[in-house]
Amino acid sequence: MNYQNSLAFAIEQDELDPLKEFRDRFLIPKHKGKDAIYLCGNSLGLQPKSAAQYIADQMANWQNLAVEGWFQGSDPWLEYHKPLTRSIANIVGAKEQEVTVMNSLTVNLHLLMVSFYKPDSKRFKIIMEGGAFPSDQYAMESQVKFHGLDPKNAVIEIFPREGEVTLRTEDILNCIKEHGDELALVMFSGINYYTGQFFDLQAIAKAAHEAGAYAGFDLAHAAGNVPLMLHEWGADFACWCSYKYMNSGPGGISGIFVHEKHFADKTMNRLAGWWGYRADKRFLMAPGFDPAVGAEGWQVSTSPIILLALFKASMAIFDTLGNISTLRKKSVALTGYLEFLINAINKDLGENVFSIITPTKEVNRGCQLSIVCSRNAKAIFNYLAENGIIGDWREPDVIRLSPVPLYNSFQDVYHTAKHLANAIEAVK
Ligand SMILES: *Cc1c(COP(=O)(O)O)cnc(C)c1O
Repeated sequence: MNYQNSLAFAIEQDELDPLKEFRDRFLIPKHKGKDAIYLCGNSLGLQPKSAAQYIADQMANWQNLAVEGWFQGSDPWLEYHKPLTRSIANIVGAKEQEVTVMNSLTVNLHLLMVSFYKPDSKRFKIIMEGGAFPSDQYAMESQVKFHGLDPKNAVIEIFPREGEVTLRTEDILNCIKEHGDELALVMFSGINYYTGQFFDLQAIAKAAHEAGAYAGFDLAHAAGNVPLMLHEWGADFACWCSYKYMNSGPGGISGIFVHEKHFADKTMNRLAGWWGYRADKRFLMAPGFDPAVGAEGWQVSTSPIILLALFKASMAIFDTLGNISTLRKKSVALTGYLEFLINAINKDLGENVFSIITPTKEVNRGCQLSIVCSRNAKAIFNYLAENGIIGDWREPDVIRLSPVPLYNSFQDVYHTAKHLANAIEAVK
């Protein structure tokens, strides 16, 4: 796209935007009586206007049907998650049976590792990206300790080369090869939360399998953000949260993926609960766990219907998009515009005050740009906040800004860049 540094250009792009109607489906926080510019969907997506009604409907079912709500009403709770798995399968590129919604993200990561991390004396190592989201680091560390191993030997973190900020795919693949015989699991995020780097998950899964290891992905920052093809890429398992790019509310329900190639494996460990029991026989309450075939077999507890209602409101919006590629197309244009405008600021200043550490190529990133400020970083971030621009701050000097194609506009991006440029003078 040929970008221009002008408000007229931004207005024109917004008018041409095939997704422009979607912004109106969300509640946008206010700043001094006007819409704030919300660029923080990487942390918590905005509330769909419809969400309150989805909850109200289930409160009414509870009120009117009480326990019969599990079996009666327009959408009985027992089957309430079913249409959601269809939507989510579309978003992550899976077969319907390969996904379900349950629990929270880190809990699901642990549950899946019970099945997919089976260290023995020979194969016990986990490879992950250095600087992964802390919860994932703690999960790996505690899993390894749980098996009586020392994280120092068992967890291999890959860091960027000296002087570089993101990982090279070749380095990831070489590291997998190097530890091949001792490798049990390659566990990567889809998009690193700090740098915004989108990893080559297909290549990583392939290398893991060639080494004889499993490949698992944490897609917290990728699901609903970038196109994914988990089934085709052959990922063994994956999990994600839905409160970032999928707008399901704080602490919203998580999702899991288990590749169908594992469905027949009866030897797999799992921490079972009755909600993972085959649905047709669950209420016989018989002894002996007989799992549902598919991802549902990993469910443990009764569906949290209110959380699912929030997620359903969100999926109704994604469903009307049809194909996630329209979303991606706008996302690439919008994030590219922010990058273009930031580069223009640096050019005007004759100095790189704002260094974007997120990769430049669109295949290597999603919505988010992570921007290192060379001076007055925190003051610049505060200046943005005072002017109604909500991004987020990561120590020591990184501002993360994520234009989200469902509810952000080219004008949002344009005004953000103007404020970034003004901030440099204002905070001197
Ligand atoms: C946001 C995020 C989490 C958060 O996990 P919760 O269990 O929902 O608190 C975990 N891992 C990654 C990679 C994340 O981006």
